[in-house]
Amino acid sequence: MRLVFANSAWVNAAERLILRGGSWKNVGLRVRYGLFFHPAAGPVLVDTGYTPEALSGDRRGLMLRLYGALLKPDLNAEEQVLPVLRRFGLSPDDIRAVIVTHFHADHISGLSLFRNARFIASDAAWGRVKARTRRQNLRHGVFTELFPPDFEARLEGLSAKRGVQTREDVPGGADLFDDGSVIAVDLPGHADGQFGLLFNGLHRPLLYAVDAQWLLTALIENRTPGFPATLIAEEAAAIEPTSAMLRRFLSTGGEVMLCHDPAPTPYDLAPEVS
Ligand SMILES: [Zn+2]
Repeated sequence: MRLVFANSAWVNAAERLILRGGSWKNVGLRVRYGLFFHPAAGPVLVDTGYTPEALSGDRRGLMLRLYGALLKPDLNAEEQVLPVLRRFGLSPDDIRAVIVTHFHADHISGLSLFRNARFIASDAAWGRVKARTRRQNLRHGVFTELFPPDFEARLEGLSAKRGVQTREDVPGGADLFDDGSVIAVDLPGHADGQFGLLFNGLHRPLLYAVDAQWLLTALIENRTPGFPATLIAEEAAAIEPTSAMLRRFLSTGGEVMLCHDPAPTPYDLAPEVS
């Protein structure tokens, strides 16, 4: 199964905010999203990355405007989701499924572009979004204006999927396509309902661990950042156990990929040759 990741935007952060014992120098973080070609489900997106909807859309509330102004993501025009789909000969209407790993803006910003897609996401977390006020959602980093109005009608919740455990070093998860190829694995800590994706069928098993950490170094060297990063975590105490699970997976030959780590990976799209 072909799997690629693209970088929708660059975001700068001081290293010490994302790496315990780091320096004040700025690190240019990627904002990845994925695309894979499932034999039965067709082309499937993993999140959407940052798109202009999060940064300039008329529907943005005041907090989302403020958030865009603070983080100043620098959109990467070449690797925005629409031009990347075009590289593969696809239009947004060809996408029948988007896996939504969690509900932060840099993961859901482009959902409205995909009119024919079902959204594979945590229905439990969605239930909590609905139960919260707009202001409470903002405190969880969720900007509800970014969800398409019919999000719930197109939601395919994890709770309806078969639970499987395919490896001893990774907890069981939801078998997204009922064939063992892509397993949603809970990654508590960073955001409400965040899950990663275990791709078992690759030459080396890959766990896309999304935002479990910002930097692979923080994961590998056990350098989870403390305050103030803990302030924006959904459940700061869960970050370390989640990271320990990922380290076990690495130590048994697995590969871990993060959304924001700056180093290129073998799955990142090569720059387009013009
Ligand atoms: Zn996030």
